[in-house]
Amino acid sequence: MTNIPHVVILGGGFGGLSSAHELRNSLSPSQVKITIIDKKDWFMVGFAKLWIINGTRTFENSIGSLNELPKKEINFIKDEITSINIEDKNVKTKSGKISFDFLIISMGAILAPQKIPGLEENGFNLYDHNSLLEIHEKLKSIESGKIAISIMGMPYKCPPAPFEASLLIDSMLRKRGVRDYIQIDFYSPASITLPAAGPEVSKQILELINSEKIVFHNFCKIKSVEPKKLIFENSEADFDLLLAIPPHVAPKAIYDSGLAKESGFILIDRDCKTPFENIFAVGDVTSLAVAENMAVPKAGIFAEGEGIIVAKNIISKIQSKEESTLFDGKGGCFIESGRNTASIIEVDMFTNAKPSTNLTESTSCNLSKKIEFEKERMSKWL
Ligand SMILES: Cc1cc2nc3c(=O)[nH]c(=O)nc-3n(C[C@H](O)[C@H](O)[C@H](O)COP(=O)(O)OP(=O)(O)OC[C@H]3O[C@@H](n4cnc5c(N)ncnc54)[C@H](O)[C@@H]3O)c2cc1C
Repeated sequence: MTNIPHVVILGGGFGGLSSAHELRNSLSPSQVKITIIDKKDWFMVGFAKLWIINGTRTFENSIGSLNELPKKEINFIKDEITSINIEDKNVKTKSGKISFDFLIISMGAILAPQKIPGLEENGFNLYDHNSLLEIHEKLKSIESGKIAISIMGMPYKCPPAPFEASLLIDSMLRKRGVRDYIQIDFYSPASITLPAAGPEVSKQILELINSEKIVFHNFCKIKSVEPKKLIFENSEADFDLLLAIPPHVAPKAIYDSGLAKESGFILIDRDCKTPFENIFAVGDVTSLAVAENMAVPKAGIFAEGEGIIVAKNIISKIQSKEESTLFDGKGGCFIESGRNTASIIEVDMFTNAKPSTNLTESTSCNLSKKIEFEKERMSKWL
């Protein structure tokens, strides 16, 4: 190790920014050098995408610049990571090679619409920031017909987000006075709305969307998409506008380096260590098992919590201490109703023998908490 240990963080999203923040708050630049590498130079809280879709936000007003990081004495390199060399402890990017003493992999999950034949030609990717404006324009002009929201692979980021999207779209169409002429169908390969949250919360989410006449179709495993038609393994469905949540995969550099099997995610334990010395992984790029064949859901709040744990464990190593901190698996995801209120799905993954979840009441106070959640992270991290 060089005199000042170098922590390299791959990805400036929830996990990367929370770990950088925690490290820099605990150690001075003379104790640790921190570098974040990301192919884009902005950060956005995932749920802001839905506000761009319903027209209450612009893209420009929803992002924070990673170029602000040097002000917090965190180096930032805008570049694409192409490979990770575990043995020689370096990372290759399109334009260079960066050596590390500690590595935090927080590269998230990659959206893979190309895995579903016909999707890119016939539907929109609800999670892709490049599609948001076009989706908004479609929702502003549709007068009648069928909107399909389709989950095309599991696991996917923020399990409640597509349901929240359906409620915000319902609200937008209601305000436009066209809702009675437009059917909203929700297709999922799962048996219940939110398998990660269990049957009770799933029932409540089903009641919530049904109360707005959004129809949930379970066991709809997608095979392909044709013009205006979804082809599932056991059935077909028509649509006029398709908003898809495509399959999610790990970044190529991850499975190329042997950190995960092809398109799978990095298996970690609650200390967020990989089998390789001083290499850690957090957030959507990982799979952290919990009881009953489940994994910690892919969500910003969990990536953030894991990022803090990794920072603590690296600080402990730098200070030659033995202790290792474990991720507590606690967090909450907002679900907006489209009627100026929000509820929170509260999750506790590890305290009891099986994960516990609870859906709070939908209130305007929770909606304010959601807005505050974004503000707080933007000002703290950037
Ligand atoms: C519509 C929507 C709503 C959501 N709502 C919520 C919510 O209410 N609450 C919640 O907790 N979560 C929510 N999420 C989920 C949340 O955004 C993600 O789970 C979270 O961003 C994961 O954090 P991460 O750090 O693991 O990955 P990310 O935040 O995705 O960060 C990964 C970073 O790595 C970079 N990267 C990847 N590959 C490379 C490469 N080869 N080279 C360079 N850089 C690379 C990417 O550019 C990216 O910046 C939502 C997501 C969406 C899409």
